[in-house]
Amino acid sequence: MRQLIFFLFGVLLLVACSENSEQMSVPQSLSVKEKNNQKENTTTQTKEIAPKSKVVPTIKKPQKEKKAAPKQKKKPKPKIQQADIEEEIVDLTEEAIHYIPNEIPESEYPYYFSAKEGYLSDGFDFPVGKPDAVGYYKSQNFGDRLHLGEDWNGNRGGNTDFGDPVYASANGLVTFVQDVCCGWGNTIRIIHYVGEDSEQPYVESLYSHLHTMHVDVGQLVKRGQQIGTIGTAEGRYVAHLHFEMRDFINMSIGPGYSDDQQGYLDPTPYIKQHRPLQ
Ligand SMILES: [Zn+2]
Repeated sequence: MRQLIFFLFGVLLLVACSENSEQMSVPQSLSVKEKNNQKENTTTQTKEIAPKSKVVPTIKKPQKEKKAAPKQKKKPKPKIQQADIEEEIVDLTEEAIHYIPNEIPESEYPYYFSAKEGYLSDGFDFPVGKPDAVGYYKSQNFGDRLHLGEDWNGNRGGNTDFGDPVYASANGLVTFVQDVCCGWGNTIRIIHYVGEDSEQPYVESLYSHLHTMHVDVGQLVKRGQQIGTIGTAEGRYVAHLHFEMRDFINMSIGPGYSDDQQGYLDPTPYIKQHRPLQ
């Protein structure tokens, strides 16, 4: 009996131990795997975090976007430019090349300039937003699409500059005030005496597409004096000033656009190089 009791007790003990060992061994093995996995995860996570932390500088992108934001404000301008450019080219290249000279011949200029003191040129200013074109931009530069002048538009775009004042770029003699055909519209030409020492004693400025004209042929004008207002050449264009400068005076009014720039000056560089002494 004792042997049987010991045997049965032994069997129960073995069964109990085997159950416990199974219960214990499984979680233990799992926990080790989990720990290993966790280690692996933590190592891989740290490895992944590292590149992420390198990616973090992409936060700079918004900064670039911030920089780009003010540029967007300038973007609407080209749309206005296109409207000006296309319309002006169509009209001026059709049939505007007529010989329409200045109304006062060069031989008479000394007579006018000697009649009154204080009208010889003492420097040049911009013809809009005087003296520095504040509030205006060029929708077309000299040379753009063979353009022989500059197109000045108000910063607010469209026809917002319609009726704005146009000023004489320098002291001078008004030699032409006419409503010219074929895309020009109301146009004023002014002769400026820039000195006997210079290679060319006279240069000329031309203001076109004007809405109104406030001066007469033969009138002496001062730099910054209002001579007219910005117009549309009677609805042909979005309002702007077509402004030319020439060192060959008394040429025909011209085509407005040409690959032959002889006799024409690039206005803005010329004005910047000949600002009045303060
Ligand atoms: Zn123009």
